[in-house]
Amino acid sequence: MPATVAIVGRPNVGKSTLFNRLVGKRLALVDDTPGVTRDRREGDARLGDLRFTIVDTAGLEEADADSLTGRMRAQTEEAIRAADVVLFVVDSRSGLTPLDKTFGELLRRTGQNVVLVANKSEGTAGMAGAYEAYEMGFGDPVAVSAEHGEGMASLYEALEPYCTEPEVDVDLGEEVADGDEGEIDTSKPLRICIVGRPNAGKSTMINRIIGEDRLLTGPEAGITRDSISVDWDWHGRPVKLFDTAGLRRKSRVQDKLEKLSVADALRAIRFAEVVVVMLDATIPFEKQDLQIVDLVVREGRAVVIALNKWDLIEDRGKAWKDMRETCERLLPQVRGVPLVRLSGLMGDGLDDLMKAVTKVHQTWNRRVSTSQLNRWLENIIERHPPPAVAGRRIKIRYMTQAKSRPPHFIVFTSRPDAVPESYTRYLVNNLRESFELDGIPLRLSLRGSD
Ligand code: GDP
Ligand code: GDP
Repeated sequence: MPATVAIVGRPNVGKSTLFNRLVGKRLALVDDTPGVTRDRREGDARLGDLRFTIVDTAGLEEADADSLTGRMRAQTEEAIRAADVVLFVVDSRSGLTPLDKTFGELLRRTGQNVVLVANKSEGTAGMAGAYEAYEMGFGDPVAVSAEHGEGMASLYEALEPYCTEPEVDVDLGEEVADGDEGEIDTSKPLRICIVGRPNAGKSTMINRIIGEDRLLTGPEAGITRDSISVDWDWHGRPVKLFDTAGLRRKSRVQDKLEKLSVADALRAIRFAEVVVVMLDATIPFEKQDLQIVDLVVREGRAVVIALNKWDLIEDRGKAWKDMRETCERLLPQVRGVPLVRLSGLMGDGLDDLMKAVTKVHQTWNRRVSTSQLNRWLENIIERHPPPAVAGRRIKIRYMTQAKSRPPHFIVFTSRPDAVPESYTRYLVNNLRESFELDGIPLRLSLRGSD
């Protein structure tokens, strides 16, 4: 059964436009007049390789009113209840209105899964409204432009956990077309953030780094009270460090304030190029640590794992060996992720940390030439050809790297839907090994080609 996604929000924020964008046909009537009465519509939506049923509640809202009344409210509530996840749409240009807040309250009370969507975010003009949306306590808003089709990759990422598992990795559509990154400009600050469970030692480390001349530049727009950014310099290389309030377990997150901390951490992660996940080495690789790494990987950031409080470890040789093994076993999605031993308290290990950070940053920016890739591909297929599915051979034709930061490869094949996941994994693992893409998230999409 496909998941059901409901679109909710006050009139005129762009719900119908988003619905049309996702359904791909101009089914719904779009009108500039708020509250033009429309029926609740359902459609089969596609986003990359996700398939879901989408329900538009446009027309169920009360026009020109700061409150929802009677039947409208009941029907909207029904749509919300029946959904697996709700897209709560706000208009990032106009900022939040009292009616947005009414919808926000209604959603909060249902306890539903909510993805906050800041629509009309084309260009940059709308971002003020998007930041304002943080106050709603639904986490990081996904900035999109339903009209121009922008931000669909971010929407994909936000919806993916609620929809059925795709067979292959994300199809980024518009974003894969070009890639111009690759060269690293070392005069630009390298953006880092440190995340980790409360008490891992983040603040201690950050204070160590900035010493007495702390240069606090926050809070900035959208970076709420708990986050600050710090500019410093590592052997002549400018670095911008984001500090966050720490990441809490999501399921435990009850009140608005705690939710904001997760949103902050997410925002810092998205802002950063390299994320240092700080663990307490005396209790390393707890479930929540793994979840944090997973979140960072899903955001496509380069990761360094810092084993802090190393000063408290007794049998260091054995502990180090154990932790390296545990890490490889528990985090296969970033095989070869750099591990660094630290003591923020003693001030040990900072240089090692920064070396690992700059190295993984380089890998994250890597571009592999198409000719190299295709030579590799030929070889790898020869060693282990894709299986025949239902008696028909799958032809893999060629590949290219569409993006870096993190590297994203596209493989063109005769039957993208038929390639088994195990074969995709085989490609990714070998790609990682052959081109030394250790420790970073890798993306690989399959595309049809005759
Ligand atoms: P609904 O009432 O929430 O269903 O909103 P509609 O989808 O009818 O859109 C209301 C108005 O906003 C229409 O004029 C749309 O063209 C416009 N609109 C929708 N999405 C965008 C967008 O991404 N950017 C801009 N600038 N306008 C949009
Ligand atoms: P945060 O919540 O991640 O910011 O953690 P803090 O920096 O506030 O540190 C939590 C506790 O761990 C404090 O009591 C610190 O003194 C202690 N701590 C931090 N780093 C180290 C370290 O490297 N070694 C030891 N032994 N204790 C540390």
